[in-house]
Amino acid sequence: MENVYLKTKNKIECNGCTACAYICPKQCIAMKEDNEGFIYPVIDETKCVHCSKCLTVCSNTYKREEKRKIIPFAIINNDKQILSKSTSGGTFYALLADLFSKSNSVCYGAAYDANLEVKHMRAETLEDAMKFMGSKYVRSNICGIYEQVKKDLLEGKNVLFTGTPCMTAGLYTYLKRDADNLLTCNIICHSNPSPKVFSKYIKCLELTKGSKVKSVTFRAKETGWRNATPVIELETGAKFEEDTFAKAFSRTLISRPSCSDCKFIEPYNFADITIGDFWGVEKLTALKDVEDGISLVYANTKKGLDELNKLKGVTKHNLDENLNYLMYNHHTPVKAHRNREKFFNKLDKTKDKDIIKLINNMSKERLFRRILKRLKILK
Ligand SMILES: Cc1cc2nc3c(=O)[nH]c(=O)nc-3n(C[C@H](O)[C@H](O)[C@H](O)COP(=O)(O)OP(=O)(O)OC[C@H]3O[C@@H](n4cnc5c(N)ncnc54)[C@H](O)[C@@H]3O)c2cc1C
Ligand code: SF4
Ligand code: SF4
Ligand code: SF4
Repeated sequence: MENVYLKTKNKIECNGCTACAYICPKQCIAMKEDNEGFIYPVIDETKCVHCSKCLTVCSNTYKREEKRKIIPFAIINNDKQILSKSTSGGTFYALLADLFSKSNSVCYGAAYDANLEVKHMRAETLEDAMKFMGSKYVRSNICGIYEQVKKDLLEGKNVLFTGTPCMTAGLYTYLKRDADNLLTCNIICHSNPSPKVFSKYIKCLELTKGSKVKSVTFRAKETGWRNATPVIELETGAKFEEDTFAKAFSRTLISRPSCSDCKFIEPYNFADITIGDFWGVEKLTALKDVEDGISLVYANTKKGLDELNKLKGVTKHNLDENLNYLMYNHHTPVKAHRNREKFFNKLDKTKDKDIIKLINNMSKERLFRRILKRLKILK
């Protein structure tokens, strides 16, 4: 688990998990934001005692030794209201419901704070943990979370940790062990966009609309799971669809550099359970009536499988273990958009009111790709 980033400072080598910073016994590593808005570890050499702990803890070079058998499922939550608030099939909510049916339980996940910044947070009740529902297509700030998880585990609490695969790998390298009272759940992960660009995008919307933004629902299902479009709600009560940021995310204009060399992709099995959108479900299975959303779910460990077998309030379909269900989904590291560097060079020079224009200009797809999409050859 050599820490390549701390030696080379090559940004592609750091996914920002924070494990090296929080393992340091002298607290002399700070996670600092760069000009693109992503955090990286920076060592205060004056306090460093050269213990090498940070050099041997990196999640980005973590290799699990054991081979894992992955068991795939398709899951749909039976509660229509829950399904409408969930991104895919509402599997996450079912995990929450099971967790909080036991006392002494806590969940960790990504939520918006009062300033619409996406952060990893802790929740002690089912009601509070519902703030984690719904995909936020922004890198979540995970600073300080591994320490809290460790404390909860040592106190004997049942912990459900959810996040990106790199965050889960970071948790395991930080803890240096698994624990019976820890259950981990990863999302299938396309990439993580810049929090700084998201914050500038929100400011731009507020300036052009003349009102504070109250909420952003990235995958509002009003027009169906497949057509899910971001819905912005203003403090005035007005609601509208706006997809500038979401397009820049899917076209990888604003992703973290490490996502272009992601070490956690396929088989996505770093956590006990993996959840994602079941794209291509009709082509790969005989399942019908999935317009409100359906999750592709993997049990990666016995603990994960036992948990999925206990879930209540869901319809769970067994799938053929020999098929590749990621055929129509994200399964190779993303290629950064050709304008990525140009975009970030212009970001700080652009006035907040012009950010949406900048994103739109820079995230344009090549003409050839646009034609293929129009001909429905590409998604
Ligand atoms: C940045 C990002 C990229 C994704 N890329 C893909 C993809 O390419 N293919 C695919 O099939 N699925 C992808 N997903 C996962 C998918 O969008 C759903 O989150 C997943 O199917 C779970 O849906 P659900 O219906 O079970 O529950 P939901 O209620 O929608 O799930 C919420 C869960 O997502 C977690 N979460 C939300 N936002 C973040 C975040 N910013 N960082 C870490 N965790 C977060 C919460 O902690 C919670 O565990 C992505 C999600 C995110 C956040
Ligand atoms: S070598 Fe030890 S003291 Fe120095 S930064 Fe790394 S963990 Fe901290
Ligand atoms: S990936 Fe995590 S452990 Fe590795 S350098 Fe980055 S923050 Fe540190
Ligand atoms: S694509 Fe890979 S490196 Fe990027 S956030 Fe997802 S798991 Fe982490």
